[in-house]
Amino acid sequence: MKLAILSRNAKLYSTTSLVAAARKRGHRVRVLDPLRCYMRIEPGKFLMRYKSKPLNGIDAVIPRIGNSITFYGTAVLRQFEMMGVYTPNSSDAVLRARDKLRSLQLLARENIGLPTTVFGDNPDDTADLLALLGDAPHVIKLNEGAQGQGVLLAEKRSASQGMIEAFRGLYANFLVQEYIKEAKGADIRCFVVGGKVVAAMQRQAREGEFRSNLHRGGIATVADLDPAEIDTAVRAAHTMQLDIAGVDLLRSKRGPLVLEVNSSPGLEGIEGTTGVDIAGAIIEYIERRVHRRQARRR
Ligand code: ADP
Ligand code: MG
Repeated sequence: MKLAILSRNAKLYSTTSLVAAARKRGHRVRVLDPLRCYMRIEPGKFLMRYKSKPLNGIDAVIPRIGNSITFYGTAVLRQFEMMGVYTPNSSDAVLRARDKLRSLQLLARENIGLPTTVFGDNPDDTADLLALLGDAPHVIKLNEGAQGQGVLLAEKRSASQGMIEAFRGLYANFLVQEYIKEAKGADIRCFVVGGKVVAAMQRQAREGEFRSNLHRGGIATVADLDPAEIDTAVRAAHTMQLDIAGVDLLRSKRGPLVLEVNSSPGLEGIEGTTGVDIAGAIIEYIERRVHRRQARRR
């Protein structure tokens, strides 16, 4: 296969790991900076160039699109799709997953466990909005945050009010959730490839912190999942139509609750913690899908 990895930085662990896994399996692979891909669109014809040269003959593209370049990155990915290139995560699915509110609405429709969440625009409705949610503590989060940035814990209702006012003052989109206390600052990252959980780790927030993100100093260990957790992770990835996904779960009294579904989950923490060759699993999955497409076309 001829593979392309859309990534801003060829030196990132996730990128180098995918490159190594592809080469090991005998594929040609190159890393493309999405911001250096440019395109021509005309009726029935899609063209892409990279650093002044045409991009042709690519069988599959693996999108690793960071939050800061969602718009341009998904436009490039969509152009590849239009050119008939296979991607495990479509541009629409990546966009959908970036929006936490939209993701929660889609997951709720499938009856997947979630922390109860409220969302509202007008300050006049804040009191009733918080009444809909129940007693503090509340978790307030920016709709498009990542790596724990913009996720706040409000211990009291007055603190929730203050944080909500502050976010509104910044014209930020945010949502408010019940705080899942019994998770005790831990969450579970399930790495799903092609409808299977290939690896899972537990992340424990450091002392005095409730966010378990590794970027916030969380400590990772191997997680043993029960059948309900596996089922929830697989269904969440399927609902978001992501063939590669990082599904974050909280363990609660009412079972696993999905926090978010990540469309470009990092490999470093989870490969290091679990010892699973996730990059290899991703390449192997893409091989199967590309072969199936080629067989169908013949
Ligand atoms: P981000 O996209 O920034 O990672 P998350 O929604 O995943 O945002 O939240 C970051 C972390 O904060 C989670 O990994 C979890 O540890 C903690 N957290 C988030 N929401 C809740 C909640 N409702 N109850 C308890 N802890 C939460
Ligand atoms: Mg998260």
